[in-house]
Amino acid sequence: ELGTKWLLRFNGEIEQRYLRRLSIITGLKHALHSEQSELSLVYQPKVSLKTLQVTGLEALLRWNSDALGFVPPDEFISIAEQAGFIEQITDWVLTRVVSDLVHLRAQGINIKPAVNLSTQDVQNRPLLEKLISMLSEHQLSASNITLEITESDLVADANLAVENLRYLQDEGFSIAIDDFGTGYSSLAYLKNLPVNAIKIDKSFVLNLTTDKNDQEIVHTILGLATAFNLEVVAEGIEDKQAMSMLARWGCDVAQGYYISRPLTLEALIDWLEITEYY
Ligand code: C2E
Ligand code: CA
Ligand code: CA
Ligand code: CA
Repeated sequence: ELGTKWLLRFNGEIEQRYLRRLSIITGLKHALHSEQSELSLVYQPKVSLKTLQVTGLEALLRWNSDALGFVPPDEFISIAEQAGFIEQITDWVLTRVVSDLVHLRAQGINIKPAVNLSTQDVQNRPLLEKLISMLSEHQLSASNITLEITESDLVADANLAVENLRYLQDEGFSIAIDDFGTGYSSLAYLKNLPVNAIKIDKSFVLNLTTDKNDQEIVHTILGLATAFNLEVVAEGIEDKQAMSMLARWGCDVAQGYYISRPLTLEALIDWLEITEYY
């Protein structure tokens, strides 16, 4: 009896997950095509630890679904990747980022936004060419954008990675390796890739002030990255102590709730008016 009950519950859970997936896929496709979009972008500032000026922004996608409520990007992005329509989502994000960039430049704000790309996007030349042509329609070059690419995506196919990264860097984009430390690649390996920056994953930064292991890892990454001339960004900085520790160790750029949460474009422009970092 126990077995049957367990099986029924097991099936129930599988069914639940299946239904959730299905409604995310349907809901996202709907959101992509509706005028009153449930999708929006927020921007989180990145601050130089050398000058204490805002030098970058990370664009982060938000989905407030009428049917499902707030769905976290970690959940819906991977579903869109598996279901084969991440291209449409990235296209939506890139279009919005270019128009927001134009707005920022018109206000005299000279900060460089970063966009998160999925593995499939890195290999999608037409999509990247579309980005370049959207930029040039506004007399903007690719050097106005940073592309954040996850570490694990590169390790999957090293040759393809080199080729695609070289293409992107030749076009003028800055390349940042995201979630650094969570995958298997070493800094020695990155040294040979056309990469401008690494982002230390927030899992190593969130408890930096108390966790000795995290301190050791972050300190080691910083030492090697400096030797290899890579810019280092730390994300997930939630307090002043973590920020000063990273500054002392030579980290270049800081990002985290301690500086600012991700903000809508309007809120960002207001924040820039009052912050000490700008
Ligand atoms: P990520 O690229 O590693 O982005 C950083 C995440 O850390 C963001 O979560 C950000 O809100 C969060 N974060 C920043 N500072 C702090 C902090 O001080 N403390 C804590 N606890 N968290 C902090 P978010 O916005 O939920 O995004 C999660 C992931 O979803 C991103 O991780 C990225 O992998 C993916 N994602 C978000 N937007 C996009 C997008 O437009 N395209 C793609 N392909 N992926 C996206
Ligand atoms: Ca990122
Ligand atoms: Ca991360
Ligand atoms: Ca990530």
